[in-house]
Amino acid sequence: MFEDTHDPFARHILLTPGPTPIHPRAQRALLHGMLGHMDPLVFALNGEIQQGLREMYGTAPDTFTALLAGTGSLGMEAGFANLVEPGDEVLVCVNGSFGARMAEMAARYGARVRQVTAPLGEAIDPAAVAAQLDGAALVAVVHGETSTGVLNPVPEIAELVRGSGALLTVDAVTTAGMEPFHMQDWGIDYVYTGAQKCLSAPPGLAPVAISDRALARYAARRTPTPLWYCDFGGLRDYWVDHSYHHTVPVNLHYAFHAALGAALEEGLEARQRRAAEVGEAILAALAPLGFRPYVADPAVRLPTVLALRLPGGFDDAGIRRALRERDISVTGGLGPTAGLIWRLGLMGEAARPAPYRALMAALEELLGERGLVDRFEEALAVTA
Ligand SMILES: *Cc1c(COP(=O)(O)O)cnc(C)c1O
Repeated sequence: MFEDTHDPFARHILLTPGPTPIHPRAQRALLHGMLGHMDPLVFALNGEIQQGLREMYGTAPDTFTALLAGTGSLGMEAGFANLVEPGDEVLVCVNGSFGARMAEMAARYGARVRQVTAPLGEAIDPAAVAAQLDGAALVAVVHGETSTGVLNPVPEIAELVRGSGALLTVDAVTTAGMEPFHMQDWGIDYVYTGAQKCLSAPPGLAPVAISDRALARYAARRTPTPLWYCDFGGLRDYWVDHSYHHTVPVNLHYAFHAALGAALEEGLEARQRRAAEVGEAILAALAPLGFRPYVADPAVRLPTVLALRLPGGFDDAGIRRALRERDISVTGGLGPTAGLIWRLGLMGEAARPAPYRALMAALEELLGERGLVDRFEEALAVTA
């Protein structure tokens, strides 16, 4: 199946909330020849990546950015590992699985974790964060909660945290790269994503940005960062001083550079619009079948992960299996929403008419339901 003469997966359509279909330029970049991680050309490439990340995250001009050699979860973990010391009060916003993952990680690094919660499908209330801020050394929030399709009000939360003395960590895995993000203006101290989400690069890299305030907190640690691999100082050794820390996955850097360049060329506003337009068209096409948005309040719907409540009696597992046989991957719910919802990815290269046209055509057949493709096209024509 994996022999090198042809690509049996070339036709596969990934509509999952990550990974997303690889960008063609990133795919081609993977074929570049191998260079060493200390090669001047690789440092030049890294420098361009760092500059691109400043643009993507909306940082201050000199903010430290880097790629961690792991997936988005490593971006999450590195933040807590470097910015939390045992006994620190950490306030974590939890309204889904990724918020819960943050709380668990913070606890493993010795934090005294307090949670601000909201019911599944609803956003975190900034006032609830404000009410619990007292004494917190760090606040952590997921911008787009992939497990439910909720967009948390990060700018509002950031405004409340600013001036409290607490640092603010934001999980931007389903937002950065697909919509404008303003690390500096909002006042965010640590942000990360995963290469395989909004940028449509291969998995295995976590782009991060670290504010000067966060680096100062790191520098004042009483004990060394327990996670040696992602120690902020070690990262700076490589990314700023160009000295060896660990061997970075150079081929993934090539692909990431290509994907990031493509995203910034297209523009983050244009990408945001593309996700919204395709999402609206999917809703218009599927609503007559009884699919409903899982997130009731349209103001907090995440444009990049469309969570749809399934119609009564819908054969979730059977239909997804039949779609997979037609080379289309669709993701269901996670934990408490399993069997209840679908989560359609509208990140990066997934947020295009063509792959969703294919989904509509397949569903027309599988459900014996005429008109899906037509409704999808009509809705697209209205927004375009
Ligand atoms: C996917 C995701 C992660 C974890 O990323 P991995 O690349 O799977 O490690 C973290 N947070 C959010 C919001 C995600 O969607």
